[in-house]
Amino acid sequence: MAEAEPDRRDPPFDFCSEFLQFSAKDTASRWLAAANLQVELYAHLAEYVPKILCLGPSGCSSREEQREEQREELACQLLLLAPLEWLLLGEDPATGLAQLQENNQPSPLCGHVFKVGEPTYSCRDCAADPTCVLCMQCFLGSVHKDHRYRMTTSGGGGFCDCGDTEAWKKGPYCQKHTPTTIKDSEEDPIAQLPVDMVARSCSIFSIILKYAVDMLTWTQEDQLPAGLEPPERGDNYYCMLFNDEVHTYEQVIYTLQKAVNCNQKEAVSFATTVDRDGRKSVRYGDFLFCEQAKTVIVRNTSRQSKPLRVQVMHSSVVAHQCFALKALSWLGQIIQYSDGLRRILCQVGLEEGPEGENSSLVDRLMLNDSKMWKGARNIYHQLLMNSLLMDFKYKKIFAIQFAKNYRRLQTDFMEDDHERVVSVTSLSVQLFTVPTMARMLMVKENLMTTIIRTFVDHLRHRDLQGRFQFDRYTAQQAFKFGRVQSLIGDLKYVLISRPSEWSDELREKFLDGLDAFLELLKCMQGMDPVVRQVGQHIEMEPEWEAAFTLQMKLTHIISMIQEWCATDERVLIEAYRKCLSVVSQCHIGLPDGEQPISLNLAGHSVETFRYQVSQDKVSIHLPVCRLLAGFHVLLSRTEIASRLPEKLPLGELSPPLLIELPLRCLVLCAQVLAGMWRRNGFSLINQIYYYHNVKCRVEMFDKDVIMLQAGASMMDPNHFLMIVLSRFELFHIFSSADCRKRYACRETNKDLVQQNNTLIEEMLHLIIILIGERYVAGVGLVEPFDEVRREIIHQLSIRPMAHSELVKALPENGNKETGLERVIDCVASFKKPGVTGRGLYELRPEWSKHFNLYFYHYSRADQSKAEEAQRKLRRQTGDDTALPPPVPPPLCPLFASLVNLLQCDVLLGVEGAVLQWAMEPRGGGWSESMLQRVLHLVGMALLEEQQQLENNSEDDITFNYTSKITRPGEAPNTSGSVLALLESLQNAPHLEVHKDMITWILKMVANIKTIRERTSSTSSVTVTHGHGQEEMIRDKDKAERKRKAEMARLRREKIMAQMSEMQKHFINENKELFQQTLAELEVSTSGDLEHSTSSSEPSCSSEVCVGPTRVGRGAERRDLVTCILCQEEQEVKCHGRAMVLAAFVQKSTVLSKRRCCSIPNAERHDPLFMHPDLSVGIHTASCGHIMHATCWQRYFEAVQLKEQRRQQRLRSHTSYDVENGEFLCPLCECLSNTVIPLLPHAQTPDRSVDHPSLDMWLKTTSQQIAALHHSYKKPPSADDMEPPIPEGFRLDFTPLNPFSSSIIEMITTFSMSTYKVGLKVNPNEQDHRVPVLSWSTCAYTIQAIERLLMDEEKPLFGGLPCRQDDCLSSITRFSSACWTSASLQTLHTHFIRLFAALVPCQQVENTPSILDIDMFHILVYTVLSYTSVHSLDQSGRNVIDSAHIHLLQLITVAHMVQVLLTSTTEEVCMEQEGGGSEEEELACQLYNTLRKHLDGILPDVASWQLWRCVKAGVFPFLRAAALFFHYLNSTAPPADLQGAGPGQWEAVCSYLNLPSNLLQMYQSQQAVLEPLIHSWCAHPAVRQTLEGCGFMVQFPRESNRLIDLPEDYSVLINQASSFTCPRSGGDKSRAPTLCLVCGSMLCSQSYCCQTEVDGEDVGACTAHTFTCGAGLGLFLRVRESQVLFVAGKTKGCFYPPPYLDDYGETDQGLKRGNPLHLCVERYRKIERLWRQHGIAEVIGHAQEANQTLVAIDWQHL
Ligand SMILES: [Zn+2]
Ligand SMILES: [Zn+2]
Ligand SMILES: [Zn+2]
Ligand SMILES: [Zn+2]
Ligand SMILES: [Zn+2]
Ligand SMILES: [Zn+2]
Ligand SMILES: [Zn+2]
Repeated sequence: MAEAEPDRRDPPFDFCSEFLQFSAKDTASRWLAAANLQVELYAHLAEYVPKILCLGPSGCSSREEQREEQREELACQLLLLAPLEWLLLGEDPATGLAQLQENNQPSPLCGHVFKVGEPTYSCRDCAADPTCVLCMQCFLGSVHKDHRYRMTTSGGGGFCDCGDTEAWKKGPYCQKHTPTTIKDSEEDPIAQLPVDMVARSCSIFSIILKYAVDMLTWTQEDQLPAGLEPPERGDNYYCMLFNDEVHTYEQVIYTLQKAVNCNQKEAVSFATTVDRDGRKSVRYGDFLFCEQAKTVIVRNTSRQSKPLRVQVMHSSVVAHQCFALKALSWLGQIIQYSDGLRRILCQVGLEEGPEGENSSLVDRLMLNDSKMWKGARNIYHQLLMNSLLMDFKYKKIFAIQFAKNYRRLQTDFMEDDHERVVSVTSLSVQLFTVPTMARMLMVKENLMTTIIRTFVDHLRHRDLQGRFQFDRYTAQQAFKFGRVQSLIGDLKYVLISRPSEWSDELREKFLDGLDAFLELLKCMQGMDPVVRQVGQHIEMEPEWEAAFTLQMKLTHIISMIQEWCATDERVLIEAYRKCLSVVSQCHIGLPDGEQPISLNLAGHSVETFRYQVSQDKVSIHLPVCRLLAGFHVLLSRTEIASRLPEKLPLGELSPPLLIELPLRCLVLCAQVLAGMWRRNGFSLINQIYYYHNVKCRVEMFDKDVIMLQAGASMMDPNHFLMIVLSRFELFHIFSSADCRKRYACRETNKDLVQQNNTLIEEMLHLIIILIGERYVAGVGLVEPFDEVRREIIHQLSIRPMAHSELVKALPENGNKETGLERVIDCVASFKKPGVTGRGLYELRPEWSKHFNLYFYHYSRADQSKAEEAQRKLRRQTGDDTALPPPVPPPLCPLFASLVNLLQCDVLLGVEGAVLQWAMEPRGGGWSESMLQRVLHLVGMALLEEQQQLENNSEDDITFNYTSKITRPGEAPNTSGSVLALLESLQNAPHLEVHKDMITWILKMVANIKTIRERTSSTSSVTVTHGHGQEEMIRDKDKAERKRKAEMARLRREKIMAQMSEMQKHFINENKELFQQTLAELEVSTSGDLEHSTSSSEPSCSSEVCVGPTRVGRGAERRDLVTCILCQEEQEVKCHGRAMVLAAFVQKSTVLSKRRCCSIPNAERHDPLFMHPDLSVGIHTASCGHIMHATCWQRYFEAVQLKEQRRQQRLRSHTSYDVENGEFLCPLCECLSNTVIPLLPHAQTPDRSVDHPSLDMWLKTTSQQIAALHHSYKKPPSADDMEPPIPEGFRLDFTPLNPFSSSIIEMITTFSMSTYKVGLKVNPNEQDHRVPVLSWSTCAYTIQAIERLLMDEEKPLFGGLPCRQDDCLSSITRFSSACWTSASLQTLHTHFIRLFAALVPCQQVENTPSILDIDMFHILVYTVLSYTSVHSLDQSGRNVIDSAHIHLLQLITVAHMVQVLLTSTTEEVCMEQEGGGSEEEELACQLYNTLRKHLDGILPDVASWQLWRCVKAGVFPFLRAAALFFHYLNSTAPPADLQGAGPGQWEAVCSYLNLPSNLLQMYQSQQAVLEPLIHSWCAHPAVRQTLEGCGFMVQFPRESNRLIDLPEDYSVLINQASSFTCPRSGGDKSRAPTLCLVCGSMLCSQSYCCQTEVDGEDVGACTAHTFTCGAGLGLFLRVRESQVLFVAGKTKGCFYPPPYLDDYGETDQGLKRGNPLHLCVERYRKIERLWRQHGIAEVIGHAQEANQTLVAIDWQHL
C-alpha cells in the first residue's frame, strides 16, 4: 500500500506495532464468544477510537491534511471495521462480500443519489410528475430518450427513480434495471440469508447504529456515554466552530485571523470547511488554550447578532463522533451487497425502543436533525436513502413515522437556519410523490390536514377579523416565509397525482383536508384591503408582496384541489357545499344593515345595497369566492348540475351576493385604469398587474369572470346590468332622462368626463367578456385543448413569437406543462433562426378569423398592437378592415342564459345612448373605443341570432335582436332606433375608421332579415351570404380596395428593396459603410486611393514588391484624407499636420502554440527574438476612421473630463477605461486605446545604383557592423585595432528627422501604446525595447491576418475589409518610420544582434538558435532596423532595396533549414514512382548537408516528401512576407493573388522576387550559404531541441481552434458534475467553467479557487485568462449554459451559448430544460470572433448597451 508508506517518518510508535499485532479475525472470534457483545465492542471502540482519530491539530496545508486523512482511514478500516466485517460474515470479508453480492437478487431500483450539478432527466410524456427523474445512464438506456424530455441539473440529494413503477406511466425500467425475473415484491429478502448471519447482523447493526446515533446526538463536550470513556485521557481539546447562515464569509475569516492567529489563507480554508461540513476544529491544545480562542470568537461576533457557535470539546468526544460518521458510511456500504442485510438494517433502525413511541433509532435521528451539524446530517440522510427508501416494505413504515412526526420536524426546521437540502424535511419529496404512499398517508395519518394545519399555524400574523396580515416584506421575513412555503411544496407533492379510485376513507380524509384548506383560504379572503386615497398621496406604500406570494404559491394547489374534486361526484358535491357555506360566512356583514336602495332603468327595477368602490374598503383577495366559481364550472363540466340538480344546494345561492365581491374587484381595476386611484401608489398598481398576470390569473381574474358569468346566468339580465352599472358608478349617466344628450352637456370638469369615459369603456369591455369568453370547459362546450389553442392564436395575432415567449404567456399547471406543444403545430408555422436570433412561430392565416379584439387576456397595449397587426394583415390581403367578433362556441346549459344579456333592454339602452352620442363629432362625452365596443356588442348579438337561426328549429329561437334594434329609443326625447342610428353613422365622415365595421353590421342585419323571411315563407333554412345588387357593389368595392392595396404594396416593396440594399452593407460591415462613403469621397476628390488603384493599374506578372526592381506607386500621387471630426480634407505628407487612425492594441495568444507561459519579469524581459511558438503577441486593430491628431487630442481630453465628472457624480464605471487611454471611436463607437499616425508612401526605388551581390552586401554590412561595434564599445580601448570603415559610412552622422513635430509626437504615442500593452509597464520613451514592440505588433498583426485569410479561404489580396487594409498599411508604414524617434545606438544594437542570429559574429553573445526564432518576425525586424544603419551611409549609393531582397533570401533559406530540421521527425522511406524533380533533388541535397552537420539525429526521408514539407512549411511565411512588402513599398498586388485560383505559390514567389524553386537560392549561393548553414546547425541548442529538450514548433503551424464541444449539452453537464474543485480536496465545484481556448475546467466564482494576480484576489477564470489568453478569455459556464467573455480584470460580458433547443432558442440559465444541441454555425461565429481579435470589442459594445454589466465584479468569476 503505497499511500501508507510516506508516514513512516511520523506515526506514533505504538501505532505500527498495533498494526502488526492486531488480527481482525481473532478479534472477531473473541467477540463471537463474548457473552455481551455490546460491552466487548464498546471496550474496543473506547480503546482504539481515540488512538486513531483526531490526534492533533488539523493540518494547515491541505497536503498534510490529506495525508492525515488517509492514515486515519486506513487505521479505521484495519482496526475497527475489519473485525466487524469478519464478525458479520464469519469469513474473510473480501470473499464473504463477493458471495453476498452474488447471491443477492437486487430490486430493480436504480437509486443513484445525485451529486450537485449532475444532470437529471424527466420525461414529459411518461413521468408521473416532474419530480420523477432519471440519472444520465438510466436515461440513455430508457425509452424516454426519444420522448419529449426535460433536462435539469440536480441541486444535490434525491435519487434516480428508474425501476419505480409508480413514477412512470410507461417504460419504468432502463435496459440495465429491467428485472430478469418477475420477483414477488412480497418475498422477504432476509429469507435468502443464512440464519446465523441474520442473527449476527441484527446484533451488530443495532449496536453500531445505536452507537452512532448516541454519538451524533451527544451534547456533552467533555464526557462520553457509559462504556466509551477512554482508558487514559489527556488534556487535549478542540475548539470547534459551527456554521450558521447569519455570519458572512468575510466576518468568519476576519474573526478567525484574530482568534487563532492564522493567516488569511488558513482562515479561508477553515471558513470553507465550516461552510461545507457544518463544523471545523480551529484550534487544538489544552482546555485553557481552546477556551481562550472561543472567548475571542464569541466576543468578536456577538456585537451585531448572536455570536458564532463555538464549543470546546474533548478530543475523545470528537474522535468518537468522527468514527460514528465513518460507521454510518460503512453500514451504507455493507447493505449495498445484499437486500437482506438492508432489510435487517431497516428493521433495526425502525424498531421501537424501550421508551415507546418515537424512540426508534431513526426517530431519534430525525427528531434531532436540526441540532446536528451539516456533515452529520448529510451522512445519515444518505444512509436513509440507501436503506429505508430503497426497501418497499420499510419505506412505508418510515413514511408513516415521518408523517407522524411531520409537524414537529417542520417546526424544528423553521427554527433551524440551514438550507432545506440539509434538513430531513427535504425527504418529503421521496415519500409524498409516490401516489400510493401519499394516498396511504392521507388516509392513515390525515396527512393533507396535517400539512395545511401546520402551515396555517406558522402564519401567525392576523388582523382583527382573523385574516392574514403580513409585516413589511424584509429579508428576514422573506426567509421565514420561504421556509413556510416548503410546506406548500409538500402539499403539492401529495396532490400532484389525482386518484383514479376513491375509497370512503379517502373521501373522508380529503374532505377533512378541504375543510382545513377552506380555513386557510378564509384567512386570505379580504386580505390587504384598500381604500381610495383622496386629497393627499399615501405616505407609505402598504405591504402587498407577501399576500401575493402566498396566492401565487397556492395557485397550483387550488387548481389541484379542483381537479381532485372533478374525479368524484360525491366529493365534488360535498366540496361545493362546504365551499358555499364558507362563502356565506364571508358574506356576513355585506349588506350591513343599511337601507337597500332601489334602481330603476328601462322599465326594470332592482334592489341593491349601498356600496361604492371609490369610497369603501375593497380587497383583491377573494380565494373562497374564486374556489366556489371553480367548483361551479366543474358542476357544469361534469354535468352533475343537469343530472343531479336535487343534490345541489343551488337554491341557497343568492346571485347578487355571489357577484358582489368579484364585481367590486373588477370595478377596482377599471377605476385604477381610469386614474381614480393615482394617490394610492405603486403597491396597488402592482397588485392589479399580478391579478391579471399569467402566474395568478387562473385563480384570480379568470375565476372572477366565471363568477360573474355564473351570477348573470342566474339573474334577470336587466337586473344584473343595473347592478353592474351601479357598481361602476355609472348608473346616473344612463338613468337620467336626457342621457342621450350627454355629448351636448358642456361638463366643466374635463377630468371627470374622461374618467367616466374610461369607466364606460371598461364596463362595455367587461360585458363583452362575460358574454363572449366561453373557452373554459364547463362554461362553453369546449375541451382544454381549445382553450390553449385560443391563447396561442391570440398571442400570435400580436406578432410572431419564439417558443419561450409563448410558454411564458401561458399558465403552467402543477406539472409545469402548458399544453403548448399539442396545439402549436396546427395553428402556426415555424421559422428557423439564422446565426443570430431565435426561431419564431407565425400564425397560419386561416386562423386569423378566430381573432377577437376583446380577448380577455390582452392588456390594453397587447390589444392595440394586435389590432394594428390584424388590420394591416387584412389590408394586405385586400379585405375590409372590420374586425368583427368571431363566432363563439356554444354555452353549456348552466350558462346558457348568458346570451340574453345581449338583447336585454338595459344594454340596448346603453347601446342607443352611445350611438346617439357618436352622432356629434366634437362631443367630449364619448370616445372611439366606447363606440368600437358598442359595435362589437351589436355584432355579437347579430352573430348569436344568426347562429340560432342556422342551428335551431324555429320554436327554439329565443333571440330576436334584429327586431329589437328597430324599436325607437325610450323616453320622451326619442331620437331613433339603434338600427337607424347605425345607418346614419355609416356615412359619418368623422367615423371613417369604423365604417367597415358598421357596414359589416348592416349587412348582417340584412342577411338575418332574409333568413327570417325565407324561414317564415318556406320554412326550409338556407343561408346565403349576400346576393344580387349588394353582392355586386361589394365585389366592386373589394376590387377597388385590392387595386389600391396592390399599388401600395408595390410602392412599399420598392422602398423596402432600396432599404434592404442599404442595410445589407450596413449589417454585414457597418464599419465599412462609413469607410466606403469616405473612400468614395476621396475617389471623387483625388481619384487616388490605394484599393481603387489595384484594378486601374495594369498588373503585369513581372511586378515585384521587394528589391531594386520593385514597382513603387510613385510619390507624385497625393494622398488625401478627410478628418471625421472636423470634416476638413488633409494631405498625408511628412511635413503636414499629423493624421491618425483610431486603433486598439491588445495582447494576443490567438496564434500561440504554447500557452501557460507568462512573462516572468516584465522589467527585464527581452522581446527582441520572437520564439516560433508565438506564445504572446501584440495585435493592433482599427475601425479605419481618420482624424487630425489635434482633433483627436481635443476629443480625448473632452472624454477624460466628462469621465472625471461622471465618476464624481455617479461613482460608476464606463465600458472603457479612460485612465488606460481607452475611448470610443467618435464615429462608430468602436473600442480604441490609441491612434496610429498616417505616413506617406515609400519612394520609388532608385534604379540608378548598382545592385550589390549577396556576397558583397554581406561583406559591407559586416564591416559596417564591426565599425559600429567598435565605436559603441566603452571605453574604446586604444590598443584595439580600429576596423576598416566602408567608404562613405560616417559614424558621426546624424540623419535628419523627416517628419513634422506633430507626426513625431503621434509616432511616439503609438509606440508607447504598444510598449505599454506589450510589456505591461509604465511608459518610458528611453527604453531600448520601444522600437522592438512597434515592429512586433506589425509582424504579429500581419501574421494573424495571413492566418485568417488562409483559414477562411480568402485570396491574399483584395479579400480584406477596407478597415483592416488601412490598418495594416498604416502600421507597416509607421513601423518603418518609428526608428526616427529612437536613439540610433539602440537601433544599431538591435540590428547587430538580429543580424548575428543569421550571420554569426564573435562579438555578439547569447544569440538564440534558428529553431528558437520566428523567421517572419526576424525578417520584419531586420528590414525595419536596417534603415537606421543605412542612414549613416553617405556614399550616395541607395542600396536599401538590395538589402531587403538579400535579407529576404537569407531568411527564407534559414526558414527552409528550420522547416527541414523540424518537420521530418518520422522516417518515411516510401519512394515515389519516377525520378525526382529538380526541387526534390535540391531539397535532398540540402537535407543531406544538414544530416552531415547533425549526424545521427535526422532520419532518412524520401526526397519528394522533403520538398513537400518545405513548400508547405514555408508558404505561410512567404504569404506574410508578401503582405509585409506590399504594404511597406505600396506595390500593387498581381492579379493571381487577388483570387484564390491555382498558381498561388508561383505568384507569391514571383511577387517576392524569389525563384519558384526556392532551393535554387541555396544552390546558386552555396559558397556563401554553406558556412552559414554550418554555423546554424552548430548552435548547441539545435541539437538539444531536436533531441527533445526544449520546445519545438513544426511548420506550417496549424491554426488554433476553439476546443471541440459535444453535440449533446448534457454530456457537458455530466462532465462538469464530476469535476471537483482542485483546491478543496474532492469537493464539488459550484460554478464549473470551461475554457473554450484550451479546454481546462475551472472552479469559478468561488473563494476556494481565488488567486492573487498583481496583488489582487481574482477568481479562477480571470486568473486563467492571464496564463491562457494574455488577459482575455472565452469560457462556457456549464451550469448556466452561458458563454462568458472576460478581458482584463474589470471587463466582461455574457454571450449567447452555441447550444440551441429544437425551437431554435438558447437556454441561458438552463431554466427551460429542453434538450440542447450544438449549433455549429454559432460556435464557428464565436471562434471567428476570437480569431479576428474581436472579443474585446464585443465586450465593449455589450457594456455600452447594458450598464448593469459594468457593475459586475468580473474578476471574481
Ligand atoms: Zn439511474
Ligand atoms: Zn436504470
Ligand atoms: Zn417517456
Ligand atoms: Zn480634424
Ligand atoms: Zn471608427
Ligand atoms: Zn484556457
Ligand atoms: Zn474551487
